[in-house]
Amino acid sequence: MRCPSCRHTDTRVVDSRETDEGAAIRRRRSCASCGRRFTTVEEAQLLVVKRSGVTEPFSRAKVEAGVSRACQGRPVDGDAIAALAQRVEECVRAAGSAEVDSGEVGLAVLPPLRDLDEVAYLRFASVYRSFASVEDFESEIALLRLERAPATPPPRHAPPTTDVAPTHPRRAGQA
Ligand SMILES: [Zn+2]
Repeated sequence: MRCPSCRHTDTRVVDSRETDEGAAIRRRRSCASCGRRFTTVEEAQLLVVKRSGVTEPFSRAKVEAGVSRACQGRPVDGDAIAALAQRVEECVRAAGSAEVDSGEVGLAVLPPLRDLDEVAYLRFASVYRSFASVEDFESEIALLRLERAPATPPPRHAPPTTDVAPTHPRRAGQA
């Protein structure tokens, strides 16, 4: 591994630890020539098989770009999109295979995007599922309505109640 500062090839690992619950290994390296330290991350490569049959490495940036397009003009910030892309990657990697279809990636985008913004979700779904007609939108919207969480959250659980009447301290002079 070359030093990113001076391109020297002799670098030494000074620290190595697992990240992302063991999905990746992060190494601190030190350059033997200039002494600069830098970090490398090693993780299993995940390949995406496109519809054309071509494979390419999974790219979180591509997921973000696709979701950003669907979110244009919507009140969704970049942090939320980055977090969504991370969830998608975790979801796709959790399946445990080294290759996934691009369709599976799209499928993994849909549930978190629906939670994030329903309009962006419909836009994304219309492209991903190739909606061909207004009816496709209508049936998807009908599904959304059905599955939508209630507008107001259910009341918080009241503090535990007991059937036993509250006990009162005995009044002086009683009994
Ligand atoms: Zn160096």
